[in-house]
Amino acid sequence: MSANGPRPTSGRAWLGYLTAGLVAIACYYAIPREGFGVAARVIMYCLTSTSAAVVVLWTALRLRTGARLPWLLLGLSQVVYSIADCTFYVNHYLLGLTGYPSLADVFYLGHYPLAVAALLLLIRRRTPGRDVQSALDASVLAVVAAMLSWLYLIGPRARLDQPVLVTAASVAYPVMDLALLAVAIRLFLGTGKRSGSFALLATNLLAILTADTLYVVQQLNGTYHAGNFLDAIWLGGNLALGAAALHPTRSAVAEPTAVREDVLGPGRIAALCAAALTAPAMLVVRHATGNTHDIPVVAAACAMLFVLVIARLAVLVADQRRLAITDALTGLHTRRFFVAQLPIEVERARRAGGSVAVFIADVDRFKSINDGHGHPAGDQALVEIADRLRRAARAGDVVARYGGEEFALLVPGASPAELAAIAQRLRDSVAGSPIEVTDSVWLAATVSIGAACYPEHAGDPAEVIAAADRSLYAAKVSGRDRAVVGAVRPESDPVMLEHLCRVADQVDLKLSAPHNSRAVGRWTRLLAAELGHDEHAVKVAGLAGRLHDIGKIVVPDAVLTKPSALDGQEWQLMRAHADHGFRLADTVPGFFPVARAIRQHHERYDGSGYPQGLVGGAIRWEARLVAVCDVWAAMLTDRPHRRALSVEAARDELRAGRGSRYDPDVVDLFLDLHAAGRIDSPAAGRVAG
Ligand code: GH3
Ligand code: MG
Ligand code: MG
Repeated sequence: MSANGPRPTSGRAWLGYLTAGLVAIACYYAIPREGFGVAARVIMYCLTSTSAAVVVLWTALRLRTGARLPWLLLGLSQVVYSIADCTFYVNHYLLGLTGYPSLADVFYLGHYPLAVAALLLLIRRRTPGRDVQSALDASVLAVVAAMLSWLYLIGPRARLDQPVLVTAASVAYPVMDLALLAVAIRLFLGTGKRSGSFALLATNLLAILTADTLYVVQQLNGTYHAGNFLDAIWLGGNLALGAAALHPTRSAVAEPTAVREDVLGPGRIAALCAAALTAPAMLVVRHATGNTHDIPVVAAACAMLFVLVIARLAVLVADQRRLAITDALTGLHTRRFFVAQLPIEVERARRAGGSVAVFIADVDRFKSINDGHGHPAGDQALVEIADRLRRAARAGDVVARYGGEEFALLVPGASPAELAAIAQRLRDSVAGSPIEVTDSVWLAATVSIGAACYPEHAGDPAEVIAAADRSLYAAKVSGRDRAVVGAVRPESDPVMLEHLCRVADQVDLKLSAPHNSRAVGRWTRLLAAELGHDEHAVKVAGLAGRLHDIGKIVVPDAVLTKPSALDGQEWQLMRAHADHGFRLADTVPGFFPVARAIRQHHERYDGSGYPQGLVGGAIRWEARLVAVCDVWAAMLTDRPHRRALSVEAARDELRAGRGSRYDPDVVDLFLDLHAAGRIDSPAAGRVAG
């Protein structure tokens, strides 16, 4: 015997055992039923039945933990069964004790709970997950079996005029058989390997249940006599159990398997349909034969079947819905679900004034894993990476498989400042430790991540994804194994940008202030850089300054250049330029952040501005810079209704608006820079750019 494993039985032992047993059964029937023959028959019968018990117990004790307990219970149930056989045949044939019920019946009935427990344990071991579909299907078949059993076995026996003990024993057998049948059906319908041992076990259950049922029928119509052909079925069943225990696949019977989702094939639908129709068919039969017994029982069966079928449909619909949004390989959400979820979260953020972040993670050089270790190893790596990303995400985040080796994460409420840290967490989760792709092959994997968020980098769901995608691309081209956040590229369309700049210049010309928008752009860029913003943010702010008044292109000239005060309607036309500017700028892909700053450049720090009446920090920082630079340029320029202010007067005006019209910090910074000579004159741009 090996030190740490079960002793292997020969691959053919089960066949030898089965053959010897079948020969024994043949001898059993060949031996004459008189004289010594009777004793010989009893011995043959008891030996065959006991041999199964010994074989099952013997192998069970040598099995590994997972399979040992169910086989041990099966062995014990067979021990009790063979004790019952021995008691019955010795009493009946050798001692002439034919009373019913007898001690043998106590043992026969006692074996059922052990067998049922063994099968339940097998079901649990084979399908550790919840297999609701199989449980419901088994319930349908069990209800029909219970109804038929009641109509043809239990009911008639219960109605016979017999002593209570006889009736109780006679009813107990079909009831126990029914319990065993229900569990057996669930075992057969459930998932798990259909090995040789499993088939032999099924044969055992089928034989015992068939012989038991025929026995009750023969008892009912008085045709049973001890030693008839039923003994062959019972003995054959015992042999099948012993052979199942000897079969090399006996351990596989208890091996766990994932629950299958696609069990409802045409065969099973037909079986369930036929079973469910049996109940109403029984009503018709009863009606046709004038038998009014047990109509309520049939009606109850019909009702239960109806409920079970509805439950089956509900489970099927729920399963299908889950499958549609679940990636088969990784168990993450599908891209479809992700893309459907994003607009919902963006809309929620829009209403609540919050934000939503999207991360796209692409495995670096994944092809080399496939090429070097095979596609299954690649799959295994994907499963593990998906798992790590899922664990790195927080509750409420949506983690999806976005493409082959691309994953996407949706994080509601993540602010722009958090994106880098979240991306780092995701990268660390993947790269933190090697991944086992096949037995003892460990690989290091990294991901590149692109991140973007609404409303910072994009104004709608598609644009958020596009921005995250652009960022991912940027991460890939700059060397992989890194994250890039919010790579919007306002310069991506130079033709469109050029066009918008020309619009800004035209507006300046209409207002007889040919340098103003350039100056505002220049000063805004300077302020943004002084505030420590990165290169990209400085560019966005500068563009917002350069293009802040483009919306005025659609304001009628009469209003735009009117020397006197505007009336209500004119004022309305004038105010609309902020929204027009937003719309114009937003037509350029990736310009959403610029467009938003344009829309807000007339908001006032105290909330008295337009078009939205935003207050303080709710106004985009770029817009707060533009507001100060814009008014500075305006104050230093002659206008139809007033002359330019002196620099001192303009400084006083800015100070007066500090904290009310303008962000106080921006005013302070602007005045400091001006005092330091770093704010050039509006016209300086003609030379300097
Ligand atoms: P890069 O760093 O540029 O992202 O390189 P890469 O090799 O990861 O990228 P590429 O897009 O060239 O290759 C992706 C590979 O992923 C190609 C494809 O065969 C593989 N792949 C896609 N889906 C699956 C899958 O479900 N299982 C496995 N094993 N491989 C997949
Ligand atoms: Mg790829
Ligand atoms: Mg890749």
